[in-house]
Amino acid sequence: MSTLRTPAQLYDAGLMAPERRAELERVAARYAVALPQTLAALIDRDNPHDPIARQFMPDVAELDQRGEENADPIGDDAYSPVEGVVHRYRDRVLLKLTYVCAVYCRFCFRRETVGPNNALSREALARALDYIRGHAEIWEVILTGGDPLVLSARRLRAVMKELSGIEHVKVVRIHTRMPIADPSRVTADLVRAMKASGRATYVALHVNHARELTRAARAAIARMADAGLVLLGQSVLLAGVNDTGAALGDLMRALVECRVKPYYLHHGDLAPGTGHLRADIATGQALMRALRGRWSGLCQPSYVLDIPGGHGKSPIGPNYIERAGENGAAHYRVEDYNGRRHRYPPAD
Ligand code: SF4
Repeated sequence: MSTLRTPAQLYDAGLMAPERRAELERVAARYAVALPQTLAALIDRDNPHDPIARQFMPDVAELDQRGEENADPIGDDAYSPVEGVVHRYRDRVLLKLTYVCAVYCRFCFRRETVGPNNALSREALARALDYIRGHAEIWEVILTGGDPLVLSARRLRAVMKELSGIEHVKVVRIHTRMPIADPSRVTADLVRAMKASGRATYVALHVNHARELTRAARAAIARMADAGLVLLGQSVLLAGVNDTGAALGDLMRALVECRVKPYYLHHGDLAPGTGHLRADIATGQALMRALRGRWSGLCQPSYVLDIPGGHGKSPIGPNYIERAGENGAAHYRVEDYNGRRHRYPPAD
């Protein structure tokens, strides 16, 4: 069995105590569970706070839905003109090709929509492509889901061919966790299918802990980098997973060593039953300051919050500059990586 999908299978694999089985059956009835053997093998069974287990093992805390949490935490629905498309920003759209993933992350912001046997139909895909064709302002298409790399190379190639045929689409971006969840799926054939002919193709890899970057995952990432795909890293700030300077720094360095440029550090969204995994924004800002002070500029992602209600992403700091003084004494105060303040003149 290559993927564990039920509490009974997790129990048989020695990943949980028997007394937890009944409560985890209730979690699994509410939210999809899938844990590939590749990730299960990474779990330190002697560590009750293992950062891999925290991300992927169901937890009874997921049944605790807080008042501020919401089934559509980043407001996809309000900006979905046709099924499978989210058109929030003028120049780009999300195209959700499938709602299936190789692994179901316990903090997923689309946890109410992802799950097995939940893909965009051929007819819906045709309507989504028609929408993109009909909107000349769309410069970038972001393939997401779910995980678009659960599709076969043949289906992915067909979608890329359609996108390559749309004159105004210049950039295609793929969001995926597949090189982490199932590196063996990232074959040379799939990598070839990921390239949209004549278009710049970016791949944003979702990785939250350096231990996810196993030897096999690094090899899969190398296959993509060697093929000329531009690789970006996106990570979610998660309590008990990467909310220390050491864990976050190790993650960013490991990504850069794999030729993946850290792009976003997402603040955790208000998805139902994920409060136990959300860190505070002040913690995230302090971690970003620690990164800036210690690690290469290549290791610096942008810390962003998707504003609930569909208002888009905003960078949330920390801020290093402020305006001070008045009239003739007006100036900027800029903070260096050691926390020391310096004066800088205004242009006027
Ligand atoms: S891979 Fe992405 S879409 Fe799938 S469960 Fe994880 S966070 Fe959600």
